[in-house]
Amino acid sequence: MFKEAHRKLYQWYQENGRHDLPWRQNSDAYRIWVSEIMLQQTQVKTVLERFYFPFLEKFPTLQALAEAHEDEVLKQWEGLGYYTRARNLHKTAQICRDALPQSVTELVALPGIGQSTAHAVAAFAYHTPVPIMDANVKRILYRVFGVKKANDRELWQLAYRLFDEERPFDYNQAMMDIGAMLCQAKQAACDRCPFNDICKATEDGPLLYPEKRAKKQVPVRLKHIVIHKHDGRYALRQRQTRFLNGLWGFMEHDEVQEAQHIGEIKHQYSHFHLHAKVYFSASMVEEEAAWYTKEEIEKLALSGADHKAFALLQESGL
Ligand code: SF4
Repeated sequence: MFKEAHRKLYQWYQENGRHDLPWRQNSDAYRIWVSEIMLQQTQVKTVLERFYFPFLEKFPTLQALAEAHEDEVLKQWEGLGYYTRARNLHKTAQICRDALPQSVTELVALPGIGQSTAHAVAAFAYHTPVPIMDANVKRILYRVFGVKKANDRELWQLAYRLFDEERPFDYNQAMMDIGAMLCQAKQAACDRCPFNDICKATEDGPLLYPEKRAKKQVPVRLKHIVIHKHDGRYALRQRQTRFLNGLWGFMEHDEVQEAQHIGEIKHQYSHFHLHAKVYFSASMVEEEAAWYTKEEIEKLALSGADHKAFALLQESGL
């Protein structure tokens, strides 16, 4: 049904595709999986410039990742956010050790691997004939089929309708590039797009697809971060909460007494914005804490907000 559209797709991909992306240079399942997990919440440019290569240098194989301590993995993930991804990456490595499984069914059963990641690993590493699904592919599907709203199940149905089982690998690569280069969220270059003969959205305007969801107001949380110092060491605790689990941070108090104000920080999380006043205190802490020197703190995996608080401490010279 889409034979001619597929033919044009491959022609466009051959001439214009991003053939130099590093995860396209090899079909190593481990590397593809790491890139997929990093790319879930982070842009290609950021992943490429700051995180992908250092992570692989530190943990070059699945086995190396499995043998690492969770703290090392979190430290390496620092700055990427959404730390559950790092913990699940580590857990999955420990379950698999030698190699990731090949089938979508086995892959989805692993921690942190959803259907989209499973399809991406199966398709790119093992050349399994399954469609992939990321934000770019979704946008193309909405537009080509002229659908303004769809749930996951419906999107997968559309993905299989447009999919080319004869050239699954090229099809998936090309779809990602069309989404990134032509069919973008805020503009669509339909005149250059290989789908322009079949695309329903060209009739009334691609940007109407998918329907925009109203932006949620993100709440602001106020906090007091207190950096306690005793004997040249500073008090920290390792979070045991679901949010930022495993990351280290300075103490937080509802009320602050006898402490020196050293600055303020703002940090954005996906579900709230944090505004915190940061204090220095030479008093001991009542809760349980671990005490570290500044050099030791630099080696710990800190949350983004605690990094900013630490920078204020460094500036203060206290
Ligand atoms: S024709 Fe336009 S709207 Fe349709 S897929 Fe191509 S770029 Fe997107």
